Amino acid sequence: MTSGAPVAGASWDVVVVGAGPAGCAVAITLAGFGWRVLLVEARAAPRFKLGESIAPGAVGLVRQFLGPSADVLDRVAAGFRTAGNVSLWAGAQPDTTDFFYTPAGHGLCVDRLAFDQALRDRATAAGATLVGGRFVSCVRQVDGLSRWRVTLDQAQAQAQAGGACVHQARFLVDASGRVAVVGRALGVACQPLDGLFAYAQWYDSAMPDQDVYTRIESGPLGWWYSNRLPGAAARRLLVFHTDHDLPAARQAAHQAGFDALLQASTHLRPLLRDKGYAADGSRPVRGAPAGSQRLQAFGGPDWLAAGDAAQAYDPLSSQGIWKALDSGSEAGHQVHYQLQAAVPAGRPQSQVQQYLDGQALRWDRYVLQRNFYYAQQDRWREGAFWQRRRGD
Ligand SMILES: Cc1cc2nc3c(=O)[nH]c(=O)nc-3n(C[C@H](O)[C@H](O)[C@H](O)COP(=O)(O)OP(=O)(O)OC[C@H]3O[C@@H](n4cnc5c(N)ncnc54)[C@H](O)[C@@H]3O)c2cc1C
Repeated sequence: MTSGAPVAGASWDVVVVGAGPAGCAVAITLAGFGWRVLLVEARAAPRFKLGESIAPGAVGLVRQFLGPSADVLDRVAAGFRTAGNVSLWAGAQPDTTDFFYTPAGHGLCVDRLAFDQALRDRATAAGATLVGGRFVSCVRQVDGLSRWRVTLDQAQAQAQAGGACVHQARFLVDASGRVAVVGRALGVACQPLDGLFAYAQWYDSAMPDQDVYTRIESGPLGWWYSNRLPGAAARRLLVFHTDHDLPAARQAAHQAGFDALLQASTHLRPLLRDKGYAADGSRPVRGAPAGSQRLQAFGGPDWLAAGDAAQAYDPLSSQGIWKALDSGSEAGHQVHYQLQAAVPAGRPQSQVQQYLDGQALRWDRYVLQRNFYYAQQDRWREGAFWQRRRGD
């Protein structure tokens, strides 16, 4: 919370809210074009973030944004290339999707916190200014060329004057993830497609584990995935997905219930047992929203949303980081051309419109794909989780 009079901040070409993959991609792109970019991040040092498996289609973008140094990729992925997915989805027999036949030939599994930090480092190296602070509100002043007044709750400003900090910007980008704080502050509704929630637990083993596949398993109450994480020691992430309002969600939120649900697994439970894995007792099960959702409008005059803020996908798609980098890159380019055009307030912004049209197409394609995959799973006709998805 802030108190006292606001502190005057600086004047920027673009304020980007959120320094996840999408915000960093926007900032790197725009700073590379020479624009003055303020990148605002509420969580200076996050302790956990889900989403570590990078699809083969995104490997080129990851290399582009992390830069040519092999060291950086090694730091975030420890040389860990993934070879594909093994899924027990539509049937009880494992089905393997091999990444060998993709253009990259492999995916990546990254240390997610190190990955986000490496992107932030690249954004500041490109010339963006990264500040710790929380977006509070924004007002667009239309006077010839329009300008935003963006109020941040900045730790530094608080220490100095105990108040909020007001920055000025020509353009505003919402890259705040699923919370879409800018879009919501502007009155844009967030439209959820479902109430999917993810419950995660980390497992350790003293035995070697050379598994290079993402493991996916559907069950009567929802579905699981597991990845081996990069690093010398054997460590796995195991995630259960179900709808937030179903009894299985309450069960999965606690270790004993999580373990009980895992007992019904025919693939992952034996895999963990045979490799000597035990739950990391120092961490509780962590829950996070994982449903499909979109902002009703992906942007408007002098603002855009990128990454999960614009549209967030079911983890089944494994496209979250890909989409964040891709839409961040596209948003950065379109904002660049829009700023160059210096269109007077009230006139159509063709670059913004192009971006909005592209996002709408992307969402339609995603929904078709999501529905197709859930329709493939036909084994548990009685379960509410699956019935809801077949009814979509
Ligand atoms: C269970 C689960 C598993 C997943 N697995 C995968 C996977 O294997 N592969 C994959 O590609 N994707 C996966 N994803 C999705 C992926 O993690 C996201 O799509 C990706 O992080 C989106 O990036 P982003 O930059 O849009 O948003 P985020 O990474 O969420 O970044 C948004 C940033 O904005 C900041 N912020 C929020 N509010 C404010 C504010 N008021 N002021 C300032 N800053 C703010 C946040 O602190 C955050 O750092 C998974 C997601 C879930 C839930």
